[in-house]
Amino acid sequence: MKRVLILGGGFGGIATAHRLKQKLGSDVEVILVDRRPYFMVGFRKSWALIGESTLEAGQKPIGSLSKIGVDVRRANVDAILPEEKSVVVDGEKIHADAIVIALGAELIPNAVTGFKEHAFNVYDPADIPRAQKAISEFKGGRVVIGIFGAPYKCSPAPYEMSLLLNEKFKSRGVKASVEIFSPQPMSLPILGQASCDTIESRLEGNGIKFYPNHKAASIEAGEVVFENKRIGYDLLLGVPPHKPPLVVRESGLVGESGWVDINARTTETLFEGVYAIGDVTQIMLTNKKPLPKAGLFAELMGETAAERIADSFNGQHSTATFSGEGGCYLEVGGGEAMMVEGSFLAEPEPLVNLTEPSKQYLEEKRKFETERLEKWFG
Ligand SMILES: Cc1cc2nc3c(=O)[nH]c(=O)nc-3n(C[C@H](O)[C@H](O)[C@H](O)COP(=O)(O)OP(=O)(O)OC[C@H]3O[C@@H](n4cnc5c(N)ncnc54)[C@H](O)[C@@H]3O)c2cc1C
Repeated sequence: MKRVLILGGGFGGIATAHRLKQKLGSDVEVILVDRRPYFMVGFRKSWALIGESTLEAGQKPIGSLSKIGVDVRRANVDAILPEEKSVVVDGEKIHADAIVIALGAELIPNAVTGFKEHAFNVYDPADIPRAQKAISEFKGGRVVIGIFGAPYKCSPAPYEMSLLLNEKFKSRGVKASVEIFSPQPMSLPILGQASCDTIESRLEGNGIKFYPNHKAASIEAGEVVFENKRIGYDLLLGVPPHKPPLVVRESGLVGESGWVDINARTTETLFEGVYAIGDVTQIMLTNKKPLPKAGLFAELMGETAAERIADSFNGQHSTATFSGEGGCYLEVGGGEAMMVEGSFLAEPEPLVNLTEPSKQYLEEKRKFETERLEKWFG
């Protein structure tokens, strides 16, 4: 029997496992490896931060994929050997007929001096309870949200956090000045200037200061240090720099972009039978900007990889391709959300649009989570 090894049980890995089992049933052995026991959508962190919900309310055990015949291993991926289609998992070498790398992006807080000591890591579920407590006990002052590197997951998320926190503090009568900085020249470069102006006016209209082109050098007690200035804070919420996980960086699969290079349409790496999907990859668009790191794209890439693997096992030419169509929600407060959506692989230019805010988009965002938990975990 053919064997597929899926590395990572996030959006991409789970979507791949489901589609493979749908297409090939018991004719394929699917092993999925993840050191984390549960799945959770990324935006749960924003809801948990403001105390609207908990992380636990959206967690599902990855082990339950065994119900559809997936061999789920809670283990560490120690090494990837793409040239021989093998992987070392908790010290055991496993060979496969196809490998799908879906290991996501690793957060590197240590890349910024002072991050661990002074900032709350709002992208790390383990740090959310501490951050949530600090927010709920905050009595007033400067709340700074810092983006410490790019690319980072879900580019609208830090702006969403700033708007939701600002709203929260106002509703509690806390005098907080919310500020946000980014190393990028505008809030969401993929959208272009006009739509960034819309987002930045919304921030300004809510009294939130935005500092573009601010690459932090280090953090000290009460101050973020930049080349030519310092920004003071009473509470610092940070999005640390991201990199592919170490095991991927050591695999020889990482290209000049610093991420795994793939064929954008087929998700194939340079090694036959080895695919990479989701946040661990970087797809450069025709406008020279990277495809945003989003769960929906990881999921669509996973389905593409699964279709192509199933077709190749069946000896068929595969026409399955990644569309690059979809987007991410940006909750703006007042019970509304916007959407950054489009056709990102369109030529000659990506067609990307920022929608008007509406209650319907917030409803869709909630459904985005419930539908996936339902379809993947029953
Ligand atoms: C605050 C926030 C809000 C977001 N909002 C949205 C949104 O609205 N819409 C959207 O589409 N996306 C959103 N995202 C982004 C989304 O969560 C990611 O893009 C998505 O999770 C990427 O999926 P992935 O499968 O590539 O990687 P992941 O989901 O990160 O999965 C990777 C898995 O690999 C495992 N792993 C890594 N290294 C190893 C190893 N060596 N051994 C074993 N296991 C390992 C990890 O434990 C992890 O489970 C948001 C993210 C954040 C942080």
